[in-house]
Amino acid sequence: MTRSEHIRALLEEYAQQRMIDEADQDARVAEASRRDPEIARLRAENAELALGTMRRMLSMDTAEARADAAQRMKQRGIANNAELRRRLAALGLPEDYLAVRYRCPECRDTGYVGDAPARFCACFEARLRARQHEDGSMAGVDEQCFERFDLSRFPEQDGQRERMAAARKVCEAYADAFPDARYRNLLLTGPSGVGKTFLLNCIYARVVDRGLSAVRVTAFRMFETMRRQHVGEDPGGADFRSLLDAPLLLIDDLGTEPMMRNITVEYLFTLLNERAAARRHTVVATNLSPVQLQERYGERVSSRLLDRAVCGAILLKGKDLRTL
Ligand SMILES: [Zn+2]
Repeated sequence: MTRSEHIRALLEEYAQQRMIDEADQDARVAEASRRDPEIARLRAENAELALGTMRRMLSMDTAEARADAAQRMKQRGIANNAELRRRLAALGLPEDYLAVRYRCPECRDTGYVGDAPARFCACFEARLRARQHEDGSMAGVDEQCFERFDLSRFPEQDGQRERMAAARKVCEAYADAFPDARYRNLLLTGPSGVGKTFLLNCIYARVVDRGLSAVRVTAFRMFETMRRQHVGEDPGGADFRSLLDAPLLLIDDLGTEPMMRNITVEYLFTLLNERAAARRHTVVATNLSPVQLQERYGERVSSRLLDRAVCGAILLKGKDLRTL
């Protein structure tokens, strides 16, 4: 996708987000009004206040009368809002309960900030970069399969080609035997550009070719799903559920996602734990070493990732193929 295609897709996503924001607000208003019908009446009165006052002002003769009406409208609005807050508090609800809650208060989920000429909000820029990054890492993914595996692309020196041949053998055996592979999980580690993503995509292609179900995600996308689940943006949790339930889940680039408090480590642990309990298969590719995995995610997560009883580890090293 080109940058402008990403922008259009993202703007569409933001438009949907605003609809979700408003639907959520409607639901909160309905809930509060059900518990206290006076809240609905006060809101309706507020809505009518400005329009009704303006209509009445049109038929007033003097500026003084109009100013007086405007003043009364203002005071009535203030009184109504105070009464609304009092009634919300009585229900144990926060005073902003009935306001729209935006994912990004800066741009109110429009993606734009500032007056004309408006510019993209920081949240929009960040999402755009993530999309483009993901696109780049997914480009050409469909050509990545064992059948097109070209070992000659890997330099012979320092045993790099030999290591890759061995790794390929393990991965292909895993994909062919799934779900009865010797190890339930695979961990592909090593620096950038040595072929981890390629192997992961080969496994995915083979398993899918065999008519079996697999889900492939980048860590960035996976944690975005978790974040959405955490803040309630994924009604029903279907996206997160699909990560938990996939018979084979392939996670690329673990360690490149943002570290989000209460989300990254907690949700990763939940994911790995639930998948282990259900004996589902997981393949992880990461630039992080075992020590770095432990430092980043802590003992509970790293021990799941590195569990020798169920996880085959493949360590790739050597030159970055993209710079050769
Ligand atoms: Zn924003």
